[in-house]
Amino acid sequence: MIGITVLGSTGSIGVSTLDVVGRHPQQFRIVALTANRDAEGMALQCRRHRPELAVMADPVAASRLRLLLSGMPMPPEVLAGQEALESVAALPQVDYVMAAIVGAAGLLPTLAAARAGKRLLLANKESLVVAGALLMQAVRDNGARILPIDSEHNAVFQCLPGEYHEGRALDSLGVERILLTASGGPFRDTPLERLARVTPKEACAHPNWAMGRKISVDSATMMNKGLELIEACWLFDADPGRIQILVHPQSVIHSLVQYRDGSVLAQLGNPDMRTPIAHALAWPERMNSGVAALDLSAVARLDFRPVEPERFPCLELAYGAAVEGGTCPVILNAANEVAVAAFLAQRIAFTDIAVVVGRTLQQIPAEQVAGWEIEQLLDVDRRAREIAEQNLTRSVG
Ligand code: NDP
Repeated sequence: MIGITVLGSTGSIGVSTLDVVGRHPQQFRIVALTANRDAEGMALQCRRHRPELAVMADPVAASRLRLLLSGMPMPPEVLAGQEALESVAALPQVDYVMAAIVGAAGLLPTLAAARAGKRLLLANKESLVVAGALLMQAVRDNGARILPIDSEHNAVFQCLPGEYHEGRALDSLGVERILLTASGGPFRDTPLERLARVTPKEACAHPNWAMGRKISVDSATMMNKGLELIEACWLFDADPGRIQILVHPQSVIHSLVQYRDGSVLAQLGNPDMRTPIAHALAWPERMNSGVAALDLSAVARLDFRPVEPERFPCLELAYGAAVEGGTCPVILNAANEVAVAAFLAQRIAFTDIAVVVGRTLQQIPAEQVAGWEIEQLLDVDRRAREIAEQNLTRSVG
């Protein structure tokens, strides 16, 4: 039996992961589940999946969970706090870790899983954006293996030859370019002058994917594609210039790899995260995910168009940060998390997200990070959040 920890089990990816795992009870068992504050959701998951441990990042939520589980025969041990999140990612009885906490909050437990040599099913793209060098080094040093969960990176992984592994140069595989597809989000056709007035509800109504609120807003600004560009650079050891973004409104082709001989390989599927999750759980085998078969005659057509830079300024900011490297992606990510939370709380307009991120990047001098420890990166993250907070008030004014 393969033991699994699901970090962020109450979220969109966490729920999809438990759906897939629940279809294969002979193969997998859940060792630990984690969440932040959703004690009710966690209690339901504990009754259904019977983990050994349940962790709530928030201690008050952990107390509530203990109460909710008090009548359960053989309830899981309930733990609280950051250290507990890290410890359940590194337990000896855990083989696979699904890293699906949202934002930089997922970094330390994800790193702990890599350092413990686990199979890392990586959804938490922010951890690669903030600490790509450290995370990839930890994977290499400890015999861990990353299986990308982001549908685009999972698609690229599937389109690379079987002999591909971390650190293998794309050139040696004949790869010319990686093409990441983007749906364009809910505002791909909205008149530009209306963007300043769109609401959080509209921004979270993604046309093709059902996702958590933060990544939904990131998809609407296309910061998500920018973070994915940085993620792809680390995962596949590629320069930003080698990665092209293509708007593909149907979200059926999840990404493509272009080879030297002119061949372009694509991975297609219905837009349902259970496909990449099942791929990463079963790799190198295949298993049932519960996703309906793709009906290409119903899809009928596949459209593509270039990105409009004036509609998606966040993508340009992310591209600049990817090229600059060093602390720039850390600052970009921290400022974006602050700005998205402020937009969701209706403190700033949708179009202010790019303004806040752009200003924060300008105000903090970039530094090189070679040889840095995680604490130094987290210091930059904290400083960038403070400055981004100050920029919120400036943008509202
Ligand atoms: P959700 O917001 O739906 O879920 C986030 C999960 O993380 C919840 O379990 C939440 O707990 C937990 N969490 C939030 N904050 C903290 C914290 N400070 N400490 C510990 N746990 C915390 O997010 P998604 O599932 O949409 O996304 C998760 C990650 O996967 C993101 O990095 C996203 O970019 C990536 N991803 C998501 C995709 C999708 O389709 N949703 C696709 C590709 C990548 P609680 O419920 O208690 O708040």
